Order: sequence, then structure tokens, then C-alpha cells
Amino acid sequence: MDQWLCNVQVNGTLQDVHLLNGVIHRMVPAGSVSGWDAREMLMLPLFKDAHVHLDKAFPDQTWISRRRVTSLFEQFQMEKHLLAEIRTSQKERARAILQDMLENGTSSLRVHVDIDPEIGLSHLAMVQELQAEYQGILTMEIVAFPQQGLLRSHAAPLIEQAMQAGASIVGGVDPAGVDLDIERCLKTIFDISTAYDAEVDIHLHDPGHLGLFTIKRIMAYTEQYGKQGQVTVSHAYCLGEVSAQESLETAKQLAELDIAIVTSVPIDSAMPRIEQLTEAGVRVALGSDHTGLDAWTPFGFTDLLQRARRLADMHRWHDDARLRSVFTYLGSTASSFRVGDSADFSLVRALNCEHAAAIAPPREIVCIRGVPVAGRQRHLAWHSEQNKPNIEERFQ
Ligand SMILES: [Zn+2]
Repeated sequence: MDQWLCNVQVNGTLQDVHLLNGVIHRMVPAGSVSGWDAREMLMLPLFKDAHVHLDKAFPDQTWISRRRVTSLFEQFQMEKHLLAEIRTSQKERARAILQDMLENGTSSLRVHVDIDPEIGLSHLAMVQELQAEYQGILTMEIVAFPQQGLLRSHAAPLIEQAMQAGASIVGGVDPAGVDLDIERCLKTIFDISTAYDAEVDIHLHDPGHLGLFTIKRIMAYTEQYGKQGQVTVSHAYCLGEVSAQESLETAKQLAELDIAIVTSVPIDSAMPRIEQLTEAGVRVALGSDHTGLDAWTPFGFTDLLQRARRLADMHRWHDDARLRSVFTYLGSTASSFRVGDSADFSLVRALNCEHAAAIAPPREIVCIRGVPVAGRQRHLAWHSEQNKPNIEERFQ
């Protein structure tokens, strides 16, 4: 693969970019050479989705009605019911989500896979098949996730089996609200994660001080088990519900233990104080959680740039620095392409990366290792001979 892209906005200036053997080989001022004309499109990094489910999607073609629920447990039950009725084509639906993510410039994702005694490891097997199918295009981490409660559904032995079968992260959900035993739940999670030298990623919806207390216990276990840098708390609504001072104190401790916080930027509940956490040194990342229609919501979507735009809009990040900062929550900075980097990027129509954060324009071309693989104008992209047949096959 040997291709010049001309007139590309990259790192704040207009350049001609040489792609060679899957990497950015050279960058020179625009007008220096001839090649495929990008017409001043902006080069953006590809995104990492830090929290997504591939095994919960409803079909796009059929409306499946949800009913009102009054508790999380009713919701769990409704989801199991509805999913059981549409078990067919789960893999096709998951594949459609992956394709949608790729079209939106996401190339890396952390997938939470449901595991419980009724479905066993069947969802894991399905996701692993897709992981193999998309190898070389999408990077997928798999969390063994006991959606019905680790203790509540007696899922611990299955989570161990999932780790043996190739999941790489131990999941959990509301040690208090769902499992009703914070200590035993966390001990089980950290024991398994230690036995398999794995990371931990816990869904925490528990509100207010119950959630905050759970975070304090997660911090204690992280320290006790020496899991610094390997623990994530997903959602953590409670950090947006307790006082700013309490949140700040917790943020400092989270930073010390290098515990990450992941949010889907909810608009229907409190959310962690992102700026405060970031300033305290906590790693914060965005995840889609819901990707479209599912049992939880009809409002899911996979476009992380839209989610980042929502983050900036909700927090009135109107200044350039904070608009630019949204890209750090998607796994990268916007203007840090260097010679020698893998040629992974998307091209969009925007004045600059601040503008892109503000309008979340469509991804015109999504490119992985120099090969255009997705995007609204992929058919107009340069043609790359190396790897092309392989990738064409995969996406037909
Ligand atoms: Zn989730």
C-alpha cells in the first residue's frame, strides 16, 4: 500500500500525507505532491468505546414494546423475557452494531457480555466468533458480566469458566443494590480477577451515599489486591449526586489508585463530575452502553462523537480547549498524528477539531492501516491494493 492523500487537515495545518505499508510515512505541506484529493477534510483519530453491550440489541426491522418497570429487577426480568423471544439472529444483530460502530469511526471497544446460569456462556461464544471475524479491524476486550447479579444469580463459577474461555475482564453489577452483600460480592470479583490476572469493571448504578460507600470499598479492595490501574467503575451516577466536596475527595483517591470511570453521558440521571475527576487525574472514558433499540431504552446510539458532543453541550464547554478535550475521553487527542503511526483515522468535513466536536459531522471515510474500510464516502476513497480483497470480503 502506497498512497498520497493531498490537502488533508491534520494537526492544525493543511498537509499532503503519505501512507505506506499501513503507517503514516510522511507529512509535507499541502501542494507538494499529487495524489488522492481530500479537499481539506479533517483527519480525526479513531475512537475507543469503553463500554458497550453487543448481546442486548433488538432487531431494527421490528418494534418490540417495552412496558413500564418499577425496579431494576423487573427490568432484568423483562430483558430476559424479550431477548429469549428473539434469540434468533443475535449474532447478525451484533454484527450490525459492529459495522455501525466502524462506520462511526470506532475501532476499539470494551464489550460486556451477559453470563448467567440460564444462558451460560452462549453470548460469550457469539461475541468471540465476532471478535475472530473482525480481527485486524476492530480491537475487542471482553468483560464477563453477570447481568443478573454475581451472587444473586449464582454466576461466580460461570464467570470463572468465562475467564478460562478467554474473557479478559471480570464484571459485576451493584454489589449492594443487586447482590445485597458488598463485601462478599467484591471479594468474589477480586478473587477471580486475581486468579486469572484480569482487570475488573463494575457496573455501579447504586445512588448517592450507597454508591459512594461502594466506591470506597472498591478502592479498598483495589489497594488490598494490588490492582492499581486495573479497575474501572462504569456509570458511577453517585459521584454526581453526592456533594462536590465528597466527590473531590473520592476523585483524589481514585486517581491515586488509578481507578478509571466510564460514563455514557446520561441525560436521564446524574453523572460523574467529569471535569473535576479529570483535573484530579482520574482516567475518564466514554462508552455507548446502549447501541440502538434494546430492552432498556429506545434511545441508544453508537456514534461516540455525538456522545462527546452531548458531553460538551451539557457542560457548556464552548471554549476551544474544552471542545478539544472531548477527544481525550474517546481514547485519543485530536491533533497528535505522527510519522510512523498506524494509518488509522477518519476523514470528516469540519473546519477544525473543535468544530468537529461541536457538530459531530458524518465520518466520510474510515481508514484502518491505510485501507478505507467504512464511511459515507468510502466508495470515493483511494483504492489500496494490499489487504483489499480480504477487507472487501468481510464487509460485503
Ligand atoms: Zn452496561
